Amino acid sequence: MEQTFGACRWVYNEGLALRAAAWKQHRRFFPSTRRCSACHVKGPRLDVSVRGWACRECGVVHDRDVNAAVNVRDEGMLLYWLVAMALPLGRHHRR
Ligand SMILES: [Zn+2]
Repeated sequence: MEQTFGACRWVYNEGLALRAAAWKQHRRFFPSTRRCSACHVKGPRLDVSVRGWACRECGVVHDRDVNAAVNVRDEGMLLYWLVAMALPLGRHHRR
């Protein structure tokens, strides 16, 4: 039983490590300004002077800064989830 639990724990931790590595790689190239926060399609590179744009895919009109903020928030929530999954269960969950 102990061995089975240990094996499950190893698989679980490996999964978390893979997801964390994938997130880290993704984060390096994360286009917070260019990515449509509604449909997540990457739009064209925008000059700093361009304050708003419409997504070619879904048609949503974005304010540049608001769109970037929503994308960063979503990434933050993803990171929070990854960290939460990596933490051990609280004492109240232990037998
Ligand atoms: Zn879109």
